[in-house]
Amino acid sequence: MTASARVHIVGAGIAGLAAAVRLTGAARPVVLYEATEHAGGRCRSFFDNELGCRIDNGNHLLLAGNSAALAYIERIGALGTFERPAEAAVPFIDLATCERWELRPNAGVLPWWPLDRSRRVPGTKAVDYLEVLRLRRATARATVAAVLDSRTLLYRRLWQPLAVAALNTSAEQGSAKLFWRVLLETLGRGGTACRALVPHLGLSESLIDPALAFLRRGGAEIRFGARLRGIEFAGGRAAGLLFDDSTVALGASDSVILAVPASVAARLLPGLTVPDDHAPIVNAHYRCAPPPDSPLFIGVIGGTAEWVFKKRDVVSVTVSAADRLVDEPPAILAERLWRDVAAACRIPADPIPPVRIVKERRATFRATPQQVEKRPGGATRWNNLHLSGDYVDTGLPATIEGAIRSGFAAAVRASRDPNPAAAVIPVTMRRMLTPETTEDRQRALP
Ligand SMILES: Cc1cc2nc3c(=O)[nH]c(=O)nc-3n(C[C@H](O)[C@H](O)[C@H](O)COP(=O)(O)OP(=O)(O)OC[C@H]3O[C@@H](n4cnc5c(N)ncnc54)[C@H](O)[C@@H]3O)c2cc1C
Repeated sequence: MTASARVHIVGAGIAGLAAAVRLTGAARPVVLYEATEHAGGRCRSFFDNELGCRIDNGNHLLLAGNSAALAYIERIGALGTFERPAEAAVPFIDLATCERWELRPNAGVLPWWPLDRSRRVPGTKAVDYLEVLRLRRATARATVAAVLDSRTLLYRRLWQPLAVAALNTSAEQGSAKLFWRVLLETLGRGGTACRALVPHLGLSESLIDPALAFLRRGGAEIRFGARLRGIEFAGGRAAGLLFDDSTVALGASDSVILAVPASVAARLLPGLTVPDDHAPIVNAHYRCAPPPDSPLFIGVIGGTAEWVFKKRDVVSVTVSAADRLVDEPPAILAERLWRDVAAACRIPADPIPPVRIVKERRATFRATPQQVEKRPGGATRWNNLHLSGDYVDTGLPATIEGAIRSGFAAAVRASRDPNPAAAVIPVTMRRMLTPETTEDRQRALP
C-alpha cells in the first residue's frame, strides 16, 4: 500500500465529477477518464450552429432542497452562477381555461400554505391536499396514479405534472414510493427547500466547467477521449483498465469508480443488473428574446409543452416522458410546442422563431416499480470497484441530485478501500460526503 494509491473515475458526467470533486484534496490522487471530448454527459451546454448561440441539452431544474447538489455547487464555487429567487413561487397556466396562478409553499416546515387560497391551486380546497399523504404508505409495486385519485383537479394541475417532471415517467407508470421521496425532500421541507436554482448562462457554465477548473486546481488528472472497453479482474479486485489505445495497470491499493451510464456499466461488469428501459425527454429551444417580465420558468397544464424556461436569448420548452412525441418530425413539434409557449409567455404566435429540437431518447431510466427494483447498490463484488450514476439506488429518481449523491457515496467507499492514506480526509469534506444508503449511513466515516 502506498500513500499515492490512485482513484480512477471513469465517466465525467455529473456523477463522476461529483466523486472526483469530493476526493480532490484528500490523500489520494484522482484520475478522471471520459470517452468523449467534453464533460457533463447528459447535463451540458453546447454551441448550436443553427441558432447561433449556446443551449443546454435539456432544461434542468434544481431546487434549494437538493442538498448534495448544493454542497457540490458550493464546493466548486459556482453558487454565484445561479439565479436564486428569494421565494418559492412556481407559476402555472392552464391552457384549457387560460387561468394563471402561482404555487407558493410557505417558508417553514409546517405546511400551512394549502389553507391560503392565494397560495394553492385554484379550484382546490385545503382538505384536498391531505390525500397526498397516502403516498407515504405506498408499496414498492404501487404507481402514483394507483395511490392518488386521478380524477381530481389537484391531480391534474399539481400531482401529475410534478410526478412526470420528477420521475420522467407518466403518473400511471411511475413509482409512488419514489415520488413520495421527492415530495418529502422538497415540499416536505417547506418553501425554502422549493426555491429554484436556475443557471444564469447554462448547465456547463454552472455545473461542469467550474468543476473541471476545481479539479485541475486540485491536481486531478483529466483524460478526454478515453473510452473504457474492458476491465481486468484478479483476486476479487479490478486489476486493469482497458482503453482503446492503452491499458492502465491498477496498483495494489488503487480504486475504481465506474460512473458510466447503466447500459455501459452492465456491459463492463459481468452479472450486473441495471434498469434497462429508458424514457425520452424532448426539448425545443427557440431563439427569441423573452418578454422581460415573464417568469424564469412556468408550468403548462393541458398543452403539449410542460415547462417553459426563460433564458438570456432563448425560450426553452421541456416535455418529459415524451414517448408520444419522440418520433414526430421536428417541424411539427416546433409548431405545436410554440403555440403553447406563445400562450404561456404572452408572445405573438407568428412567426415561429428559429428553433432547435433536441430529442434525448434515453434521457433517464423509466421510474416504474419494475425498473426501480433493478437498481444496483454502489458496492460491487470487486472490493476496489464502486458504482456511481443516476441509475444507482439512491432512493431518488434519475436526477442531478441522485447522480451527485451516488458520486459522493462512491467517494466514501473508495476512501474506505484498504489504503491507510485514504482515511485522511479533511474535516470540511467529511460533512459533504453524503452516504446514499442505509448501509452507508451505518458505516459512517471515522
Ligand atoms: C433532457 C434532460 C433533462 C433532464 N432534466 C433534469 C432536471 O430537470 N433535473 C434533474 O435533476 N435531472 C434532469 N435530468 C437527468 C440528469 O441529467 C441525469 O440524471 C444526470 O445528468 C446523469 O448523470 P450521470 O453522471 O449519472 O450520467 P451521464 O451524464 O450519462 O454521464 C456518464 C458519462 O460517462 C461517459 N462514458 C460513457 N461510456 C464511457 C466509457 N466506456 N468510458 C469512459 N466514459 C464513458 C459519458 O460520455 C458521460 O460523460 C435530465 C436529463 C436529460 C437528458
